[in-house]
Amino acid sequence: MSQTEMPTGRTRVVREPHRGVYDRETANRILDGGIICHVGFVAEGQPYVIPTSYGRNGNNLYIHGSVASRMLRQLKESVPVCVTVTLLDGLVLARSVFNHSMNYRSVVVLGKASLVEDGREKLEALRAIAEHIIPGRWDDARQPNERELKQTSVLKLPIEEFSAKVRIGPPIDDEEDYSFPTWAGVLPLELRAGSPIDDERLVAGQTAPGYVRKYARAQ
Ligand SMILES: Cc1cc2nc3c(=O)[nH]c(=O)nc-3n(C[C@H](O)[C@H](O)[C@H](O)COP(=O)(O)OP(=O)(O)OC[C@H]3O[C@@H](n4cnc5c(N)ncnc54)[C@H](O)[C@@H]3O)c2cc1C
Repeated sequence: MSQTEMPTGRTRVVREPHRGVYDRETANRILDGGIICHVGFVAEGQPYVIPTSYGRNGNNLYIHGSVASRMLRQLKESVPVCVTVTLLDGLVLARSVFNHSMNYRSVVVLGKASLVEDGREKLEALRAIAEHIIPGRWDDARQPNERELKQTSVLKLPIEEFSAKVRIGPPIDDEEDYSFPTWAGVLPLELRAGSPIDDERLVAGQTAPGYVRKYARAQ
């Protein structure tokens, strides 16, 4: 069910406020369409923004990595974190340089992450991350063993304080520029999978499954 959340003072979109979207369904669609997020946090006074994979399960975002990872070690200490996901949909070419833009959908989530300690939730989170990246893969691959689970930290960030921002449509030029003689419009961009490349050490008879051959991101 669609649910409109109230932006907080920190998540209210300031520039082009009409592009701010605060409903959970829109935010979830964008989160589900992305593959990587950027995780921002401050460690010893230094801001870091680290790209990483993620998954969503309900109203939580999950990220995972080595127990030795600084990012995961920092975040499990409940430091404030900002996670951003961006989908680039097109280049918007206006008549004036000033009014060039991009069509995009993005989400910013603020909050504090916590370490997932419950074994069942950890496994579900790892499944959510794997299935987020390539649906169908989890059941086809060998499941994580005890040693691998011990070496992996999983963090959970509630999607509570969030905003989405969406730009769609043609360029918006100043009225007097519409007579300027140059091409203007939108160059759509999309992430597309290439042809699968077989690993050299495949067990005989293995071929790329449908979820690989027909890989596409949710829009
Ligand atoms: C597409 C993608 C998906 C990834 N998925 C995961 C994931 O699921 N889990 C995971 O743990 N890691 C993932 N990574 C790697 C992640 O970006 C970090 O490199 C990793 O978490 C390293 O953590 P660390 O604590 O060892 O390094 P840190 O101690 O955090 O890094 C030390 C320094 O190395 C440099 N550095 C670290 N990472 C990068 C980077 N990606 N690019 C450029 N410089 C860097 C920075 O200068 C940083 O200050 C992914 C990276 C990419 C690009």
